Amino acid sequence: MRPDQLNSLFVETQALDGVGPKLMRPLEKLGLTRVRDLAYHLPERFVERRKVEHLDEAAVGEQIVVALTVREHRASSGRGPYRVLAEDAAGNVCTLTYFGRASYTAKKLLPVGEKRWVAGRLDEYGQMLQIVHPDHVVADATALLGQMCEPVYRLSEGLTQPRIAGLVTQALDHAPELPEWIEPGLLDRQGWQSWRDALVLAHRGADKLARDRLAYDELLANSLALMLVRQSNRAQSGTPLQGDGRLRDTLSLPFALTGAQKRSIGEIEGDLAQGAPMLRLLQGDVGSGKTVVALSAMLIAIEAGAQAAMLAPTEILARQHFETLTQMAAGTGVEIAILTGRDKGRARESILMGLHDGSIDIVVGTHAIFQDTVTYKNLALVVIDEQHRFGVGQRLMLARKGRRTPHTLAMTATPIPRTLTLAQYGEMDVSQLDELPPGRQAIDTRVIPVERMDDIVGALDRHLSGGGQAYWVCPMVTDNESDDIAAAEARFAALKERFGDSVAMVHGQLKPDAKDAAMERFSRGEAKLLVATTVIEVGVDVPNATLMVIEQAERFGLAQLHQLRGRVGRGSDKSVCLLLRGEALSDTARRRLALMRETQDGFRIAEEDLELRGGGELLGTRQSGDTPFAVASLEQIQTLLPLAHDDAKLLMQRDGGLDGERGKAARLLLYLFERDWGVQLLRGG
Ligand code: ADP
Ligand code: MG
Repeated sequence: MRPDQLNSLFVETQALDGVGPKLMRPLEKLGLTRVRDLAYHLPERFVERRKVEHLDEAAVGEQIVVALTVREHRASSGRGPYRVLAEDAAGNVCTLTYFGRASYTAKKLLPVGEKRWVAGRLDEYGQMLQIVHPDHVVADATALLGQMCEPVYRLSEGLTQPRIAGLVTQALDHAPELPEWIEPGLLDRQGWQSWRDALVLAHRGADKLARDRLAYDELLANSLALMLVRQSNRAQSGTPLQGDGRLRDTLSLPFALTGAQKRSIGEIEGDLAQGAPMLRLLQGDVGSGKTVVALSAMLIAIEAGAQAAMLAPTEILARQHFETLTQMAAGTGVEIAILTGRDKGRARESILMGLHDGSIDIVVGTHAIFQDTVTYKNLALVVIDEQHRFGVGQRLMLARKGRRTPHTLAMTATPIPRTLTLAQYGEMDVSQLDELPPGRQAIDTRVIPVERMDDIVGALDRHLSGGGQAYWVCPMVTDNESDDIAAAEARFAALKERFGDSVAMVHGQLKPDAKDAAMERFSRGEAKLLVATTVIEVGVDVPNATLMVIEQAERFGLAQLHQLRGRVGRGSDKSVCLLLRGEALSDTARRRLALMRETQDGFRIAEEDLELRGGGELLGTRQSGDTPFAVASLEQIQTLLPLAHDDAKLLMQRDGGLDGERGKAARLLLYLFERDWGVQLLRGG
């Protein structure tokens, strides 16, 4: 139950004045469904204006507020803009310029002969001063002059700045004073404001202290929640699993395990033998051989008389794992089944039966394996693949499945910089596969301007005629998935024209059946070229595909590029990855692509990507993308997370039940940032 003090913040946005169903749509798009979300919808930047008496006091490019008298309207000629001539008190003339439909507004707002206060950026057009689409045109300047520093919010279609600013103001009025959860000494040292003051100030101006405090709150909430998970996990009873090696001994692998694989298996074996449930993350780059480590862990569980489950984020990956595991474990006599949302009727019934009576040892699947209708005889180990797709909350749901808490092995190929590992997986122990299996060849990566499309298609032609297979990756560019898919479809059509029926396509809006069918054709070699959006990002394994083309590579995050590239270079043949780039690239974009060319070390890529992205932040307004944080920027994570981590640890040591005064305040914090599963654990454990 959420504490009453927070009720006013968790009211739905619809309850605010002037919000109807029509406005809800764009608000929902931004995730602003509750008052709390609006209060935390921090400005992306601020416009600071200066009031000038006369236009010649202002520099071109400056944001100004000035009183002008309207002289003349000039309707647009053909496609030209609508212009309004106006002059200041000294007779300096300025054009107010409106494009398209905005001209209707201009007619209403600027009657000839009247004086109006105009706010906007002063520009030059030929010899004339002009303001294009003024931000404000008002008769009464009181409000305008009272807010010379104006927040600029992220919008979605159907919203305007004044609209959202008004809603934020309402939301802030709902924000109560809350007891302090930050350690008083730290608050003093940093000079931070109270929570409510910081929130209000962060909307008013570029206040670094306020922004830092709010970011710190979020980081502290995260650290605390992860520590609560860890604490409660330690207190739970799992099933100690002691394998005798009989199944692992019959496993006949066509290769010898790497040192890193052996070490990781050893660490897992140690955890499984304990009474407390394992919480371990297996981190290893694409191709580092996580699957066999997972299989070994599951075999230990089965040797000890229990069952194991492996959860994959998508249907495709579940099937692939099922096939790989079945092949690898062929000699062991272990019974493996697959269960996804698509298995229905008798087949499903018989799998459910097998899980219930224990005749199935391992089940691989999607979320379907944890539905209420699925009961296990003795589930003692859960392996979660591609961990980053599942939040901590979901991890906990899984843990509730057995009578005793199962051991959890999470696996991820997403290389994360060290700072973020703490934020993302702070509650887990980490095993690292920092050594690739021998014999892998470096992937020849090249950055090529998109103008050379003909050459690229020519190279692709030679590759396919020589019996090779290839991926062609189309980017997600716009906010609108349909647009992107349309672009990908167009590329698909063009390539099909050239290469005929040997081209297949997958994207996010295909029905699962169609997606699987396309993947099947590609992995069986019937399709030679797979055109895809980023849905192929994880897991797919087709060793004969040794060429990858990625369009508009500068649009992708580096971690994502790295994962995509990991789809090639899986066999013993040399692989090539062509990164097509647009014409105008920023310096940072150039350096990021150069880095991809230079290295294949996922961790190095992650560290430097963080550096490159973090460096450009001034206010800390850049959102942190693939971190679990909405408020804290990358830079704030780097500077403040270690503090938050230590602070959380100290609080847990002093008041592990969060019962003291500060502890109670910290509970509010957990609810505020929706890490309340942390609180629920307190009650349960
Ligand atoms: P990951 O899931 O970590 O990306 P996989 O488990 O799919 O990697 O392994 C990638 C490929 O490497 C597979 O074809 C697997 O059979 C092979 N492999 C795994 N371990 C070794 C090893 N020690 N030596 C050689 N090949 C290996
Ligand atoms: Mg894998």
